[in-house]
Amino acid sequence: MHFMNETLPRFGDAEIPDSTHISLFGTVPDSIVDGPGLRYAVFVQGCSHGCPGCHNPESQPAEGGTVTAIADLLADIEANGLVHDVTLSGGEPFEQPAACAALARELKRRGYGVWSYSGYLYEDLERRAAEEPAIADLLDAIDVLVDGPFVESRKSLELKWCGSSNQRLIDVPATRRTGSVQLWHPASFTLERPANW
Ligand code: SF4
Repeated sequence: MHFMNETLPRFGDAEIPDSTHISLFGTVPDSIVDGPGLRYAVFVQGCSHGCPGCHNPESQPAEGGTVTAIADLLADIEANGLVHDVTLSGGEPFEQPAACAALARELKRRGYGVWSYSGYLYEDLERRAAEEPAIADLLDAIDVLVDGPFVESRKSLELKWCGSSNQRLIDVPATRRTGSVQLWHPASFTLERPANW
């Protein structure tokens, strides 16, 4: 069960209702470009940033997404036994914060790693979190936030997991703990030559 390109109920002008449903642009169950390793990528519908050169312009309108029960999405993720990490992308996950927080919180409870992309800066999200519990809940449920809009003049194909060099990979738990932005770095490791080589 993949949700990409399915035609199901539309939100039209209605609000994304609550924390039980999410409006999806699509899903990719075996992404290798939305964070390290093999990941299940969830692309939400709707993004107000309007970045020139957006990688997913069809995901920008708030209308037209596939309204999906979060329970069904979780079941689809769990049915994929190879994947232990999930990335929220879009679209703008922080424009469906209650739904994305409910999804991310449940994924964490089941042992998944969770990344999220956002066109907002972390500092702006943190400021809003003081007044919008769903934003705080979503920040509390993700491991790494890739923040900031896509800036075409700073586009680089050399970057891993970012489209443009203004975007940051933020270690969200460490940032929330310390109160200042802590960047996330991949765990470093060295390969040792086996003794019999
Ligand atoms: S934040 Fe992402 S999805 Fe939204 S317009 Fe910018 S590039 Fe597109």
